Amino acid sequence: MRIGIDLGGTKIEAAVLDQAGNFRFRERVATPLGDYPATLNAIRHLVQRAESALNESCEHLGVGHPGSMNPIDGKIRNANSTCLNGQRLQSDLQAQLQRAVRLANDADCLALSEATDGIAQESASVFAVILGTGVGGGWFIHGRLLEGPNGLTGEWGHNPLPIASLDELPGPRCYCGKQGCIEAWLSGPALVADYHRQHGQTDVHDVPTLIAAARAGDQDASEALNRHTERLARSLACVINVCDPDAIVLGGGVAQRPNLVADLHVALPVHVFLPAGTPLRTKLLLPKFGDSSGVRGAARL
Ligand SMILES: [Zn+2]
Repeated sequence: MRIGIDLGGTKIEAAVLDQAGNFRFRERVATPLGDYPATLNAIRHLVQRAESALNESCEHLGVGHPGSMNPIDGKIRNANSTCLNGQRLQSDLQAQLQRAVRLANDADCLALSEATDGIAQESASVFAVILGTGVGGGWFIHGRLLEGPNGLTGEWGHNPLPIASLDELPGPRCYCGKQGCIEAWLSGPALVADYHRQHGQTDVHDVPTLIAAARAGDQDASEALNRHTERLARSLACVINVCDPDAIVLGGGVAQRPNLVADLHVALPVHVFLPAGTPLRTKLLLPKFGDSSGVRGAARL
């Protein structure tokens, strides 16, 4: 049995997976906002409830979390749930739960889940992207998550938007301190902000409303989504030119819009280093497990 915890900004989900990948237990609680000790307690209670429900103790515990762990001092950084930043989440959880705990960021968990028994299980190298409140990425290559000495694997969201046109420079300011980061163009809030810059303030304030407006025939909303697709294509083309993955999995709320994969099949090849007309062989995929990939990947850590 493996327990996974998906530690998100609004909810904490626990799940127990059996050997076959079936859920044996699942429960969600609201994340205690801005309260680190209460967050640790919530995780401990979820683990206790899972173990008493199954009458079994689970040695394997993985936690998917926003941001990344600094490999030098073990502290969390770059998490949009800012109460985690500067905290030694792994050692604190290990002390509370009296067992080894593995951590990975949420995009790594998506990559691990979808490459193991999800939509990309036939692919040897997988780049998984989360387009949500932020923009992150994770690499799963030949049976394992890719890690590096700086703990930065997959952090493509803070590269500058590639092939920027003059009217895209210097670009929106990013929370990281730079301007024109991919995240500052491609996250959900960035997509809505782009719509407002181009078309003025309306009652569109989030991505689901923007998608609904486009579906209902709102031309401005469709144009905002088209600009987003084109910028995503430029951003992913750079990833393909460097690492040429077998598959790219597109997760997060912004990826749930209609025709994204079909539109990318048109927009991407233009920017990839291939002779014109050569078909792109990279598979562009949507997650098989949707929102559940976070907790499934965490359990598989
Ligand atoms: Zn940035």
